[in-house]
Amino acid sequence: MDRITAKRGIELRCKGWRQEALLRMLENVLENGENQKELIVYAALGKAARNWQSYHAIVDTLKNLEDGETLVIQSGKPIGVFKTHPFAPVIVMANCNMVGKWATSENFYDLMEKGLIIWGGLTAAAWQYIGSQGVIQGTYEIFSSIARMHFEGSLKGRFILTAGLGGMGGSQPLAGFMAGAAILCVEVDEARIDKRIAAGYLQRKTHSLDEALGWIEEARQKGEALSVGLCANAADVYPELVSRGITPDIVTDQTSAHDLLYGYIPNGFTFEEVREMRANQPEKLQKEARRSIAQEVEAMLAFKDNGSIVFDNGNNIRTQALQGGVERAFEIDIFTEAFLRPLFCKAIGPFRWVALSGDPGDIKAIDDYILKNFADNEIVVNWIRLANQYIPVEGLPARIGWFGHQERTRLAVAVNDMVRTGKLKGPVAFSRDHLDAASMTHPNIMTERMKDGSDAIADWPLLNAMLNCSSMADLVTIHSGGGGYSGYMTSAGVTLVADGSESADIRLRTVLDNDTGLGVLRYADAGYSIALKEAEDKGIRRIDTERYSNQM
Ligand code: NAD
Repeated sequence: MDRITAKRGIELRCKGWRQEALLRMLENVLENGENQKELIVYAALGKAARNWQSYHAIVDTLKNLEDGETLVIQSGKPIGVFKTHPFAPVIVMANCNMVGKWATSENFYDLMEKGLIIWGGLTAAAWQYIGSQGVIQGTYEIFSSIARMHFEGSLKGRFILTAGLGGMGGSQPLAGFMAGAAILCVEVDEARIDKRIAAGYLQRKTHSLDEALGWIEEARQKGEALSVGLCANAADVYPELVSRGITPDIVTDQTSAHDLLYGYIPNGFTFEEVREMRANQPEKLQKEARRSIAQEVEAMLAFKDNGSIVFDNGNNIRTQALQGGVERAFEIDIFTEAFLRPLFCKAIGPFRWVALSGDPGDIKAIDDYILKNFADNEIVVNWIRLANQYIPVEGLPARIGWFGHQERTRLAVAVNDMVRTGKLKGPVAFSRDHLDAASMTHPNIMTERMKDGSDAIADWPLLNAMLNCSSMADLVTIHSGGGGYSGYMTSAGVTLVADGSESADIRLRTVLDNDTGLGVLRYADAGYSIALKEAEDKGIRRIDTERYSNQM
C-alpha cells in the first residue's frame, strides 16, 4: 500500500466538508506520525486506528456519511452509524477507557494483544496531532517562564539538558533554540535524531559526549542559541555529567518513560536485545527500564541539589522512579503546576488550527490576522512572530497558539469568515490539546496538587465531552491512559470545522466558549482566585453554592 498522506486542495471525497475535514485529519496524523506501518503516531503506542481494517472501514464510512448521521468509534474501531441530526457531532469516540481496578498496564497490554483496545495518546486516535509543533509552544512557554522566574528574563548563554526526540519530545530542540538557549537532547535512536534534523527542528548531531559538550560550551560562551542531538542513553549521560561536576541551568526529560515495555529503552542493552526481551522476557524488560529510569532520576535530583531548575515534562518519569525506589522523585516539580497553572486558570491553553487546503498561505494569512487583531496579547504576538520565522511545515500546514476564553471564539469566527469570503484557499479545522483547562484529569501531570485536593476527580473531562456534544462540536472523544499511563488519566478532545457556513459560526461560538468556560469554572471551583476573577470579568455563569450555605 502507498504511504498515506492527507489530501490537499478543495475537491471533496465525502458528502460535505465536515466529514472531509475529519478524514483529512485522520490522514494527517498518519502522515506526521512516527511509524505509519503500525499506525503509531507518537508516545510509543499512541495509535490512529485499531488496525488497518478499521482504518479502511473508517475511511469508507466517512466517504458515505450523510449530514445528520453520527459515526461511533471505540478504541480506534468504527462500530456503527446512527441517525442523529444535522447539528450533532459527525463522530463520537471513546478510546482506551477501562474501569477503576482493571485499569493497569498488564490488563491494557493483554487487551491490546487481543485486539480489543488501543492507547490513543491524546491526539493520535483523536486525529488532532499536528507533528512536533503540537507541544512546542507549551515547551517554549515553560522555558520562557523559567527564564522570567530564574534568569532575569533571558536564556541567552544558558544550558538546557533534556532527552527524547520522539513525536512530542522532538519539539524540544527548537523550543530551546527559540528561547535563546544552548540545548542538548540525548536520544538513543539515531533515526529519530535524523528525522528531527530533516524536519528542521534540530541543528547538529553527534555520538560523542565530549563533542556535544564542546559545542554547547562554545554556544553558551558566545550567547548563541544552539540545538544538539547526542546519540546515547540518557541514563548513561545524566549520571556521567553529574560525576564530571557539570550542572546545566535547566534539566528535564521527554523520553517515553511512561511505558516500560514499548517506550523507554534501558541503558546497558542494544535495540536488538530490547526487542528480544519485549517478545520473550517482558517482565525483565520492565524491571530493567525501571532500574534505568531510577538511575536517570537520581541524576536529575543531583542536578537539582547542585542548583539546576529540574522539571518533569509530563511523561510519568517521577512515578516510575518512585516505584523503582527513588523516594525523593516527587521533589522534582511537574511543569503544569510549576509554570502553566496560572494560564490554565484563565483557560489559556494549546489551541490549534489546520489548513485543510494544504496551502501554507492560509496559515500565513491567519498569522497576519492575529498579529493585527490580537496586538495587545503579548504571549500570542510573540509566539506567532517566532512561529512564523522558525516552525517548519509538517503535513497539512498548522499552527498552535495559546489562546484563552472568548479569544478562541473571536479567532475561529473570524477565520470562518475568511473561508466564506475566499480569503483562504479552503476550510480550517480547529482543535486543542487534551491537556487543557477543563479536559484533563491526571494527578501526576495536569492536576497535581490542586488547591482543593481534587487531583484525581475525573468528572471534569467527562462533563467537558458531554458539554461539547451538547454544544454541537464535529468530533468529541473521551480517552484514558494506556500502556504505562493506564489508570493514571482521563481526558477529552474536541474538533471543529470552519467551512465558511453560518452553521459553523454557531458551532464555533457555542463549543469554544463552553469548552473554555468550563475550564475557567474547573479552576474557580478548586478555589483559584485568578479563575474566580476571570469568571466574573468574562461573565461566565458560575453558580456560587456558598450563597446557599445557611439553607438546610
Ligand atoms: P515517542 O515514543 O515518540 O518518543 C520517545 C523517544 O524517547 C524515542 O525517540 C526513544 O528512542 C527515546 N528514548 C527512549 N528511551 C530513551 C533513553 N533511555 N535515552 C534516550 N532516549 C530514549 O514519545 P513522544 O511522543 O515524544 O512523547 C514522549 C513522552 O512525553 C511520553 O511519555 C508522552 O506521553 C509525553 N508527552 C508529554 C506532553 C506534554 O504536554 N508535556 C505531551 C505529549 C507527550
